[in-house]
Amino acid sequence: MTTVAFHTLGCKVNQYETEGIWQKFKNEGYERVDFDHHADVYVINTCTVTNTGDKKSRQVIRRAVRKNPEAVVCVTGCYAQTSPGEIMEIPGVDIVVGTQDRGKMIQHIEEHQEHRMPINGVSNIMKNRVFEEMDVPEFSDRTRANLKIQEGCNNFCTFCIIPWSRGLLRSRKPENVLDQAQQLVDAGYKEIVLTGIHTAGYGEDMKDYNFAQLLRDLENHVEGLKRIRISSIEASQITDEVIEVLDRSTKVVPHLHIPLQSGSNTVLERMRRKYSTDFYKKRIEKIQQALPELAITSDVIVGFPGETEEEFQETMNFVRDIGYSELHVFPFSKRTGTPAARMDDQVNDQVKHQRVQQLIELSNHQAYEYAKRYEDEVVEVIPEEFDQEYPNHLIGYSDNYLKVRFEGTKDMIGQIVRVKITKAGYPYNDGTFVRVMDDEALKI
Ligand code: SF4
Repeated sequence: MTTVAFHTLGCKVNQYETEGIWQKFKNEGYERVDFDHHADVYVINTCTVTNTGDKKSRQVIRRAVRKNPEAVVCVTGCYAQTSPGEIMEIPGVDIVVGTQDRGKMIQHIEEHQEHRMPINGVSNIMKNRVFEEMDVPEFSDRTRANLKIQEGCNNFCTFCIIPWSRGLLRSRKPENVLDQAQQLVDAGYKEIVLTGIHTAGYGEDMKDYNFAQLLRDLENHVEGLKRIRISSIEASQITDEVIEVLDRSTKVVPHLHIPLQSGSNTVLERMRRKYSTDFYKKRIEKIQQALPELAITSDVIVGFPGETEEEFQETMNFVRDIGYSELHVFPFSKRTGTPAARMDDQVNDQVKHQRVQQLIELSNHQAYEYAKRYEDEVVEVIPEEFDQEYPNHLIGYSDNYLKVRFEGTKDMIGQIVRVKITKAGYPYNDGTFVRVMDDEALKI
């Protein structure tokens, strides 16, 4: 049997797509082996979000070539899309496919096996207006079910290369999203995470359908679905209609990831983010009125070019004001090819580092304060795996995204389990098992 091995770099979308590509190989009768094993075909799904992403991708490609110089080495993903020439130059690379036309990968491999010529299958992504369907009815690691609902982004923030590697916004057909969701639920997943490049921009390229409607349809038409999580939503996408859906929903979890990037209006302008802090805050206040228990997580970039101490303090104050349940803090990193990489006034690394530390400290404090509200409360957790340090302890997330550790058994993995939080903390909350929710109990 012909063997194939995969390595995925980068984000959830890439992980999703590797599973989609694997399904195609599986249908052709390939056997999947570990990336460290000898394989006939290696597929490396690359990332380009930072310059380090490129570097890491190149290292992994070389590793595959060393492992089996006779293998067909096929490189795909964001780095492949933006720099196919650079990748083709790496000795041993046979095929490059970008972020589209993954369906042609196996055909390219067969062609290569016949002619032994390198194939560059990358074409202009900006011309693509159609979502490329990929069937992912289950996941190899069986932990979480991501469901990709859209591709691309029209925003062109000045620090971000992604629109160049993913193209413009395209939404998956609603009927295909619903079909895929049903297959995932039938495969045993209780929670579905809606994923994409600009996830809640879903529907912006459609006439009579939008993100709120998709949420409603998932809730009403996917039989047996228990939890819906939105991987990320911009403040501008929290429309009154979305708030109404969330308010009524019994399935969309009370957790939203709402990227902030900066709490200073002047920095937001330089980032070309399309909102002010005032607008962002108003949307949050509105949704908090409907969902007072909502957990809000976010991303912040620290040390954007020209960021003064005053602007940084504006971010600190804004973060204090909002009260996040978790924050991902990134030091600004120059991504070649973006406008921000060419801006004057780059902030020096030491200052960046100090600001990152300050913000992380504040964020850790807020995360703990949020978690503390749930001490002695019972929350519903979906355990994903065993803890590496504590024997017989499972780890999973509650609906409001608390990371909970408790003593449990293997059969609980993937189920909805009621757990009492005994000691709040960050990043872990300790708890004790109460009971597994069966399907009847979940209906109530
Ligand atoms: S919204 Fe901005 S940061 Fe997000 S993918 Fe689009 S361009 Fe990149």
